[in-house]
Amino acid sequence: MATISQPQPTDAAAEPATLTFDVLIVGAGISGIGSAYHLKTQCPGKSFAILEAKEDIGGTWHTHRYPGARSDSDLYTFGYRFKPWIGPPIATADEIRKYLRDVVAENGLDTAMRFGTVIRRCSWSSADKLWTVETHRRDGTAGPTYRANFLWMCQGYYDHDNPYLPSWPGMADYKGRLVHAQTWDEDMDYAGKRIVVIGSGATAATVIPAMADKAAHVTMLQRSPTYFFCYPNRSDLADRLREIGVDEETVHRCTRLDYLNTLKTLDRRAREEPEMVFEELKELIRQYAGPDFEFEPHFTPRYRPWQQRLAFVPDGDMFSRMREGKVSAVTDTIDHFTPTGIRTASGTDIEADIVVAATGFKLLVMGGIEFEVDGVAVDWSQTPTYRGMMFAGVPNLAWVFGYFRAAWTLRVDLLGDFVCKLLRHMADKGVSQVGIVVPGHLAGETLLPWIEDDNFNPGYLMRDMDKLPKRLGERPEWRHSQDYWLESVDIPAIDLDGEEFAYR
Ligand SMILES: Cc1cc2nc3c(=O)[nH]c(=O)nc-3n(C[C@H](O)[C@H](O)[C@H](O)COP(=O)(O)OP(=O)(O)OC[C@H]3O[C@@H](n4cnc5c(N)ncnc54)[C@H](O)[C@@H]3O)c2cc1C
Repeated sequence: MATISQPQPTDAAAEPATLTFDVLIVGAGISGIGSAYHLKTQCPGKSFAILEAKEDIGGTWHTHRYPGARSDSDLYTFGYRFKPWIGPPIATADEIRKYLRDVVAENGLDTAMRFGTVIRRCSWSSADKLWTVETHRRDGTAGPTYRANFLWMCQGYYDHDNPYLPSWPGMADYKGRLVHAQTWDEDMDYAGKRIVVIGSGATAATVIPAMADKAAHVTMLQRSPTYFFCYPNRSDLADRLREIGVDEETVHRCTRLDYLNTLKTLDRRAREEPEMVFEELKELIRQYAGPDFEFEPHFTPRYRPWQQRLAFVPDGDMFSRMREGKVSAVTDTIDHFTPTGIRTASGTDIEADIVVAATGFKLLVMGGIEFEVDGVAVDWSQTPTYRGMMFAGVPNLAWVFGYFRAAWTLRVDLLGDFVCKLLRHMADKGVSQVGIVVPGHLAGETLLPWIEDDNFNPGYLMRDMDKLPKRLGERPEWRHSQDYWLESVDIPAIDLDGEEFAYR
C-alpha cells in the first residue's frame, strides 16, 4: 500500500484530494493523543494522521470552558502511564491541556494533526483492505478524502457541539440569561448576580464553588441527590516521595498505584457495604460543611455509591461555600420558567439573573459518522462488541471507550498496547485484514445493552443506551466489563489467534 510516512501539517490548498496512511486516529482528545503516542513508539514504521474536527487538541478539555472546569479523577491515573504528572491530583482544564500539549510536543505528534477535519462517512472495502474516510471542514465545505488500513476511533462518546438541554415550559419567557455549561460564554459577567445551577453532578460541583466567589448567591437545583467525595487536593505519598528526592517517574508510578489501590478498595466496599461507605463520605463532608450539616433531603441519594460516578470535591470547596451561606441546595423538579426565574413543582419560586444548565451530554455514537462495510451500512445498535473495543462485522477498527468508575485514560494505555500488538501480529502474519467473529455456539445469543443499568446508570447513557453496540451475555470477551483490574490482566493475555479473530 502506498503511504505517506511523514504527514504534513494541514494546508487545505496544498493537499492532494486523497491521502493514504496505515492508520487514522479519529479525535485529538486525551484518547487520540495517547493512542498516537503508543502507535508511534510501539509501531514506529506505521504512517498515521490524527483527524480532529476542532482547531485544537484537548477534546473534552478544549470544549468545556465553564468557570473552574477541572477533572474529577486524580491525574496520576487520568494522566498517561508514560508521562509523569507533577501537579496536585485534581487538575484544571488548562493544566490538562498543557499536559497534553507537552505530550504532543515531546513526541513530535504535531505534524500528524489534521485540525478542522470533520469526518462524515467511513467505508470499508474488503477488496482493497482499506477504509475510505470522507471529511468536510467546519464551514461545511468538502475536505480531503483519506484512505487507511486501520481506524483507531478516539472520538469520545458525546456530541461536542450540542449539549443536552431539556425543554421546560416558559423557557422563552425567562428574561435572565440561560447558559449551558458545555457552551459557556467566557465574556459573561456574573459578579453580584443571583445564579441557579440546574444539576448536581461533577460539572455542577465544579461550577458552583467557582461562581460562588463572585456571585451574590448560587442555588443548586437538583432533581435528585448525588454522592460527593470531599478530600484535600494533594497526595501525601507523592509529597513525601518528592521530599526525600525520589525522581518524578517513580513518584508517578507509585502514586498511580496508590490511587489505583484506593479506587479498587472503594469500588469493592461500595458494593459490599454501601451504608458504611456513605457514612464515611458524610464524615468527610462534615469537615468542610460543619458538624451539624443536614444531609436530608439534598444529600441522600436514591442509588448506591458508585452506580454513577462519585463527584469529587477537592478541598470540599462546594461545602465550604455552603457553610459560608454563599451556596444553597433545592431538591425539586422544575415546573416552569417564569420571567424572573424558576418555579418548582412544589410551588417554590427561585429568582435568578442567570440560570446555568449543568444538565449533561447528548450521547453520540461513533462521532455521528456513517459507517459502511462493503456497501452495507453498519447499524451499531445491532452490532456485538468484542470486549468493548472491536466489533463483529466491522474489520480493522478499534474504539477507545474508557472507564466510568476509574480514570478513562487507564484504558487508553491498555488498548494502546493491545492495538499495537494486533498491528504487529498482522504484519508478522503478512495479512492486512482482521475481523471479529462471533463463534458459532454464541450465534443466536440475545443482544444486551452496552452496560447493565444496575451497574452504572447516568442520564446520558440511560437516555440513549439503545443506540450503542451490544454485549453478548455476560462473557468477558463480549462486553465492556468496566473493570480495569480484570482487564489489566485479561487484555494483555488475549490470544490473537483465538477463535474470535479472522485474518485475511
Ligand atoms: C467536564 C468533564 C469532566 C470529565 N472529567 C473526567 C475525569 O476526571 N476522569 C475521567 O475519567 N473522565 C472524565 N470525563 C469523561 C471524559 O470525557 C473522558 O475522560 C475523556 O476526556 C474522553 O477523552 P476522549 O479523547 O476519549 O474523548 P473526547 O474528549 O470527547 O475527545 C474526542 C475528540 O474527537 C473529536 N471528534 C469527535 N467526532 C469527530 C468526527 N466525526 N470527526 C472528527 N473529529 C471528531 C472531538 O472533536 C474531540 O476533540 C469528563 C468529562 C467531562 C465532560
